[in-house]
Amino acid sequence: MSGRAMAMAARGKNQKNQQSDRRSEALRMLPPIDECLRAALHDPALSGFAHGYVRILLRRAQAALRETLAVAEAGAVTRAGLVEEIVRMAGAAAAADEPSLKPVINATGVVLHTNLGRALLAEPAIEAVVRAARSPVNLEYDLAGGGRGDRDSLVEEELCALTGAEAATVVNNNAAAVLLALNSIADEREVIVSRGELIEIGGSFRIPDVMGRSGARLREVGTTNRTHPEDYRAAIGPDTAMLLKVHPSNYRIVGFTAEVSLAELVEIGNAHRLPVMEDLGAGALIDMERYGLPREPLVAARVAAGAGLVTFSGDKLLGGPQAGLIVGRRDLVARLKANPLRRALRCDKLTLAALAATLRLYLRSPNIETDLPTLRLLRRTPAELEQAATRARALLAERLGEDFVIEMVVSASEIGSGALPAEEIESRALRITHREHSPDAIAALFRHARPPVIGRITDGAFHLDLRTVEDPTELAVAFPSRPA
Ligand SMILES: *Cc1c(COP(=O)(O)O)cnc(C)c1O
Repeated sequence: MSGRAMAMAARGKNQKNQQSDRRSEALRMLPPIDECLRAALHDPALSGFAHGYVRILLRRAQAALRETLAVAEAGAVTRAGLVEEIVRMAGAAAAADEPSLKPVINATGVVLHTNLGRALLAEPAIEAVVRAARSPVNLEYDLAGGGRGDRDSLVEEELCALTGAEAATVVNNNAAAVLLALNSIADEREVIVSRGELIEIGGSFRIPDVMGRSGARLREVGTTNRTHPEDYRAAIGPDTAMLLKVHPSNYRIVGFTAEVSLAELVEIGNAHRLPVMEDLGAGALIDMERYGLPREPLVAARVAAGAGLVTFSGDKLLGGPQAGLIVGRRDLVARLKANPLRRALRCDKLTLAALAATLRLYLRSPNIETDLPTLRLLRRTPAELEQAATRARALLAERLGEDFVIEMVVSASEIGSGALPAEEIESRALRITHREHSPDAIAALFRHARPPVIGRITDGAFHLDLRTVEDPTELAVAFPSRPA
C-alpha cells in the first residue's frame, strides 16, 4: 500500500459505510488476467516480453491493486479504468525489473530470522561465493593427484580442527544431516529418544516425522518432563541401533524436570556398544560467553563428552551459509559418506565456498566477533543501539509526518532460529503508532517501502528493533520523502 493509499484510507470516517460498499463493488469488478493481457500486448512497456512473464506481472499488479482497494477509499471506478491501472502497474514493474528475492531491512530484532534468510555472511565468504560462481573451481578435483576428489575435503579438516572430531561431512541443512545420519546408522532398527526431546522446529521439522522417513523406528522413553537413565537402559534391546539426544532449541521445560545428560547417555551407550548422536541445532564453534553473550552448547564440548555424531546448522550461530554439518567418530561418519542418500543431500559449490571461507575465519581471524555479522549484531551494546534508535527516530519523524508517534523503547531481541529461546538480549526499538491506523496497517506501510522494512507487532503496537539494523540510514532509502 502506498503512503497515498494510507492517507486516503484514513480520511473521513463518517463516510465509511458508503465507502465500503464502493470498495466491494470495485473488488468485484477487478478484471480477469486474460482481459488485462489483451490490453497489455498493445502497451509498449510490456509488448516485448514473453506472454508468460507478462501474465506474472499482471497477476502481481492485480493482487497489489486488490490490497489497495481493500483499505483505500474507492472512488467511482470503471472496469476499463481498472484494466488500465493494472497494465500501468505491470509496466512499471517490468521497467523496475525487481528480482523476486530481494534485500529487505530486518527490523524484527531477531538476528537469525529463518524467514529472512538467517545468518548474513562475512565479507570473505561473500567474495568466495562470487569467485566460485564466476570461475571453474576444484570442487571435486584433486589438484595434487589430478584425479577425482571429494567435496568434503574442502572443509573436513577445518571442521575437525574446530570441533575436535575425527571426521566430518556436510549436507544441505541440519534436517538433511539428521535424516542422513538416522538412515545410515539405524535403517529398520530402533533409535531411543526421550519424550521430552521429540521436538518440532519451525518450518515443519519434527523429529518423529523425520525419523519415520529415515527408516529408523522411534522408541520413546520417559515422560515429557522427566526422563531417567533407567528409562534408556530398559528400552535397549537387540534392535536398538542408536541413542539420540535432541537439543530442545526452541523451548524450555521448567519445574519438576529430569534430563539425562549427554555424558550419562554416552556411558549407557558405551556399556551396550551403541553410538550416541546429538542433534544440536544451533551449535556454537566458539564460547559465546567470551564475547559477553548467553551460553550456547559448544560442538567441541559435545564431541569431547563422547557423542559419536553431532549435527548442527551452518546458518545459525556458526554464521555461515545454509548447511548441515555432521562431525564425529570416523567409523560412523564413514557410514554416512557411503550412503547413496548423501549424493541426494549434498551441497553445491557456492555453499561450500561460503562455508570454507567462514571456517577459515574461525581458524585465522583475530577478530571473529566483528568479522561475523551474526556475532557483531548480537554484541551491539544498549548504548550503540540507543544511538542508532535516536538516529532512526529523527529520520522517520521527518519522513512520516506528525500523525505518527515514534517513541524509543527498551526492547528484547532474540538470537532466533531456536537458539536460546528463554534468553532475551536487551535492545532498543522504535514504537510507532498512528491515531487512526492499526498496527497491521502501519506494518503494511513499512513492508511496502523500497526496500521493504520488516518490523514486528509487540504489545499491540508496531515496533522497529534496531539490533538487526546496523545502518539506520537505510531507513532513509526506504522512505526517501514524506508520503503525500
Ligand atoms: C534448527 C534445528 C534443526 C533444523 O535445522 P535446519 O538447518 O534448519 O535444517 C534441527 N534440529 C534442531 C535441534 C534445530 O535447532
